[in-house]
Amino acid sequence: MLNKTLDLIKKNGLILKKKYGQNFLIDDNIMQKIISALELDKNDLILEIGPGLGILTENFLIARKVILIEIDETAAIFLKNKFDKNKNVQVINSDVLKIDLEKIFEGEKNIKIVSNLPYYISTAVITKCLEIKKNIDLKFMVFMMQKEVAERILSAPNKKSYGSLSVFAQYKSDILFIEKNVSPNCFLPKPKVTSSIIKFIPKNNFEIDDAEQKFLFSLVKKSFSKRRKTLINCLDNFCGLSKNKIANVLAQNNLDLNIRAESMTINDFTNLSLGIKKILDSEKIAS
Ligand code: SAM
Repeated sequence: MLNKTLDLIKKNGLILKKKYGQNFLIDDNIMQKIISALELDKNDLILEIGPGLGILTENFLIARKVILIEIDETAAIFLKNKFDKNKNVQVINSDVLKIDLEKIFEGEKNIKIVSNLPYYISTAVITKCLEIKKNIDLKFMVFMMQKEVAERILSAPNKKSYGSLSVFAQYKSDILFIEKNVSPNCFLPKPKVTSSIIKFIPKNNFEIDDAEQKFLFSLVKKSFSKRRKTLINCLDNFCGLSKNKIANVLAQNNLDLNIRAESMTINDFTNLSLGIKKILDSEKIAS
């Protein structure tokens, strides 16, 4: 893969762009792990974010539809030429963060998203994909990212890496480690950090609706906003509520009044959020 990548870069006069996080995958073994995690099927719609030189993409051509979103204009033109004869391939030259993915997926079935993520936007892309509405037939996402981000995503209460991203990602999806340690040697140019591959399988049986989830995640974000403070202090004045009222909800849920966000399970956050919402709703009715 290294020779193929170097050859493509040289023959097409491509310049590697650091600002777009262009670290191309050059390891066959790791590429096979991504492909196998995707469980490719001819009925699939594969969306690849940041296809670069399209080497990983070559493996998806059996799919019913392959959509490529690439920000780098030179790479996008190269990809359009490369896959010119493959009528099932569509290249979109755009920033993935500016694209309405739900619009692209409307009416589609068997959707899978894959990316060797540009690391400068890995959490933003993961968050965007996890926010895709559950009426969209998104089977799963397979993403390569910095190991440090993967660890935060899979972290558990009382671990240093546990935070709002862990709660959000684990609430929204079942998560599997496909590969924990992908060496910098597997990329050209070598990144400074070790990477990991994770598969996210979106959940679709939530007990709370979209509006309640939005409220839950704003609460989770606020709860982790000041790591050294107790939860009650972080949430002081959250939606105009006093510390006393928050303390009452904690007590109702058998949670210690001095608890910190990093010790709260996802279930604790859900109960806290429902309790707070109940107070806010009753105050709204009363006013
Ligand atoms: N898929 C290729 C591979 O595995 O070798 C390239 C992966 S490289 C880590 C990241 C790719 O994402 C680059 O091609 C880069 O140009 C592209 N990219 C960076 N920012 C992007 C954005 N905001 N939207 C879409 N593509 C982006």
